[in-house]
Amino acid sequence: MLQFKDSKLTAEWHDAKLRPELRVIVLAANGYAELRYERSLVVSSIYRTPEDNAALHSKSFTHPEWRAVDCSAHGFERVKPALVDWTQEEFDDIGSFVNNLLDTGFGSIMPVCYSEKHGTGKHLHFQVAKGNPPKFRS
Ligand SMILES: [Zn+2]
Repeated sequence: MLQFKDSKLTAEWHDAKLRPELRVIVLAANGYAELRYERSLVVSSIYRTPEDNAALHSKSFTHPEWRAVDCSAHGFERVKPALVDWTQEEFDDIGSFVNNLLDTGFGSIMPVCYSEKHGTGKHLHFQVAKGNPPKFRS
């Protein structure tokens, strides 16, 4: 079952402002993670205020616009120790699963999921384009 780092994130997950497609995307990724690796993803970031976003030196506004969900591999070692040992290769594999399934409409320029090291460390970043629902690849 998909996990949440804290109750604030659980509330954000259910907030009507979150783009609904993200719930489908993250649950699909989590389903894949559980079947392939027998571990659940942990949601670590959804909404960011513009101020928090600027403090992270992020040039992207996907989090302040409720268009992104992060699942991190660190920061909750004390609460969920079994859920933090994801390797970069495993995260890349989960990202590939999502990106082979769905397309934002911007091709490789803007994948639905990426796992490069950026921002707050190793995490999966799921996003949807502004006003543009992702499409299943044919
Ligand atoms: Zn992110």
